[in-house]
Amino acid sequence: MSNSQKLFNDAKKVIPSGVNSPVRYFEPYPFFTKKSHGAYIWDEDKNRYIDFCNGYGALLLGHRRKEILNAVSKQLTQGTLFCTPTKSEIELSKLIIGNFPSIEKVRLVNTGGEATMTAIRLARGFTKKKKIIKFEGCYHGAHDSVLVKAGSGLAHNGISVSDGGLDEVSKNTLVVQYNNVEDLEKTITKNKDIAGVIIEPILANMGLILPENNFLSNVRKITKENDIPLIFDEVVTGFRVAPGGAQQHFKIKPDITTLAKALGSGFTVAAVGGQKEIMDLLSPGGKVYQASTYAGNPISVSAAIASIKTINKIKNKLYTKLERYNALLTHAIDNMATDMKIPHQINFTSSMFQIFFTNKPVIDYKTSKNADAKKFKKMFSTLLKNKVFIAPSQFEVVFLSDAHTQSDLNHTVDAFDIALKSVKN
Ligand SMILES: *Cc1c(COP(=O)(O)O)cnc(C)c1O
Repeated sequence: MSNSQKLFNDAKKVIPSGVNSPVRYFEPYPFFTKKSHGAYIWDEDKNRYIDFCNGYGALLLGHRRKEILNAVSKQLTQGTLFCTPTKSEIELSKLIIGNFPSIEKVRLVNTGGEATMTAIRLARGFTKKKKIIKFEGCYHGAHDSVLVKAGSGLAHNGISVSDGGLDEVSKNTLVVQYNNVEDLEKTITKNKDIAGVIIEPILANMGLILPENNFLSNVRKITKENDIPLIFDEVVTGFRVAPGGAQQHFKIKPDITTLAKALGSGFTVAAVGGQKEIMDLLSPGGKVYQASTYAGNPISVSAAIASIKTINKIKNKLYTKLERYNALLTHAIDNMATDMKIPHQINFTSSMFQIFFTNKPVIDYKTSKNADAKKFKKMFSTLLKNKVFIAPSQFEVVFLSDAHTQSDLNHTVDAFDIALKSVKN
C-alpha cells in the first residue's frame, strides 16, 4: 500500500471524505503532497509530478517563487498579524488600482468566495434591489447566493443547488446561459428587481469556455442601459490573462471586480474593488457590513505586493512565453487526438486550456456537460501515472506557470500521447 493510500485511509477518519475541499478528491484516492518547487510537486511516495493544477491558477509564477518567498521571509521578522492598519495595505491597494483602471477603491479580504459575497452585498446595498443574475456554470465560491447551477466541484458532483441553502436565497439568484445575450436581455426585461449581474469574463470552472465575439461588450451594454452593476469575477483571470485581467484583455470596465488566486501567489489574500461611490458604502463609513480578522494581514499582503511587482516587471516576457507554451502544448495534443481519430475539442487562451471529448464545440454549461467525462477521467489517471498532474475534473482547467520549461512541455506531450491512447482503447 502506498503512503498516500495509507494517509487517505487515516484522513477519512478525521476529515469529511478525507479532503478539505471537494475538488481535491479523486478515485481511487488522491496523492498526498509533501513539497513543491517551481513547476513540480512531490508526493509522500517520492513521485515528482509536473504540476498543471498550480493551485487552481494561483501559482502563475510557479511554486516557491523567490521574489514571493523573500518578501514573506522579510515580513515574518516584523510580525504576522496586527489587526491595525499598515503602510503595506496602502501600497498593495495602489498596485491593484494601477493595474485595474476600473477600480478606484479596494478592500482586501481572504478568499475569492468572500470577495464575491462582498461584491454581491455591495451591489444590493447600492441598488436597494434583491435579485442577482449569474451565468450557468460560472463558479463564484461556496456561499448560498452563488451555489446555484455552478461549475467546478458542483458540476463534477452533479449538485444543482446545495443542500442546506435556503430556497429564499436561491430563488433570488436568476441563472442565464453563458454566451447567450438574448437570455440575459429577456431575464432583465422580465424582472425589475435586479441588484447585479455577476460573471466570469472567461469561464474557467466548466472546463474552459471562452466568451464569444461581443458577448462581454453586450453584457456591459445591457447592464449599463438598465443601471445594473456589473461584477467581473476575475478570481481566475485577474493577473493570469493580463496584468489587468480579462477587463484589460477585452477592454471592458465592470463596476465591481473580484480578485484572488494569482493575486497572492499561494498566500491567502483576495480583493473586491470598484467605483468609489459603490465601495464607500462599506462599513464603517457606509452601512454594507463586511469584516474579517485576517483581512489585510501583513504576510499575505507582502506576498501580493511581491506578486504584482514581479508580474509587472516581467510582463513583456511572461505573457508571450505562457501563450507560446500553451499554443505548443495544445497544438501537439490536438494533432495527436486528431491522428488517433478521437472526437475532441480544445479550448484555450493565454495560459489556460481544457480538452473535451466531444465532436460539438463547447460554448456553455450544456455543451461542457455533454462531453465524455469518463474519457477525461481515464486521461487524467494515465497522465498521473506518467507524472503529469492536471486538476482531476473535466470542469476545471489546465494551468501553465512561468516555472514550466521546454523539457517539461516535451515530457507532458509524451504523457498526453500515452493518455490519449488509453482514452481511445
Ligand atoms: C476559485 C474561484 C472562486 C472562489 O475562490 P476561493 O478562494 O476558493 O473562495 C470564486 N470565483 C472564481 C471564478 C473562482 O475560480
